[in-house]
Amino acid sequence: MNDETTMARRTLVKGVIAIGSCLIFAGVTQAMPARAEEAASGLVDVQYGFMVNRRKCVGCKNCVAACRKYNKLSDDTPDRRRITERFDSHGKKYRVSTSCMHCDDPNCMRVCPAGAISKVDAGIVQVDKDLCIGCKYCFQACPYEVPRYNSDSMDKCDCCLGAGVKPGDQPYCVSACKFGALSYGPIDDLVAEAESLNHEVVRVGDACEPNCYITGEV
Ligand code: SF4
Ligand code: SF4
Ligand code: SF4
Repeated sequence: MNDETTMARRTLVKGVIAIGSCLIFAGVTQAMPARAEEAASGLVDVQYGFMVNRRKCVGCKNCVAACRKYNKLSDDTPDRRRITERFDSHGKKYRVSTSCMHCDDPNCMRVCPAGAISKVDAGIVQVDKDLCIGCKYCFQACPYEVPRYNSDSMDKCDCCLGAGVKPGDQPYCVSACKFGALSYGPIDDLVAEAESLNHEVVRVGDACEPNCYITGEV
């Protein structure tokens, strides 16, 4: 089969899935696709996540650059990691670097009509770009506006699995931060460690049970 035939078939399959998914979304049910259901029912032995220290981030964006470099993001792919400015209860400004939260209950996976999103080892939420049909339902469903798109598919943080990092090992953003503002590990351990220092520990949000917390001396 030549490349054109392969592309034509792939486009046709995506088109059929897209039409079917529109019917499903507009209709009665939003049932989780079989593949996503299977992934959701699988055991996530230890959930990993991010701890962001708001007192240490200087906004240098080394984490953003390392993410782009090692994941070889194309020019038309938005940053996976973003630095946002916030204010504490005393009106003092701080910065946090966040990406996908690898939620316990990921809405993105629930609504994906193509079964392109799975929760894999270390609780990482990963997208299979070959299955993605570009419908953008995941963006609408994610409370944190994480999924972004390039000309091929949805794109978001996979804790550098696609860059060859093993599940549970340090993603490149964390290695690139020379200020100790980003930590990655078993999320319960990171929370316990921060609490043992009597630091305030706040989950980034309630929706979907995100595995990203903000800490730092009060
Ligand atoms: S590399 Fe560290 S200090 Fe720099 S922006 Fe990222 S989290 Fe903040
Ligand atoms: S933050 Fe959004 S994209 Fe990431 S796992 Fe949660 S719902 Fe999905
Ligand atoms: S855009 Fe999102 S919801 Fe749609 S197929 Fe791709 S990963 Fe799934």
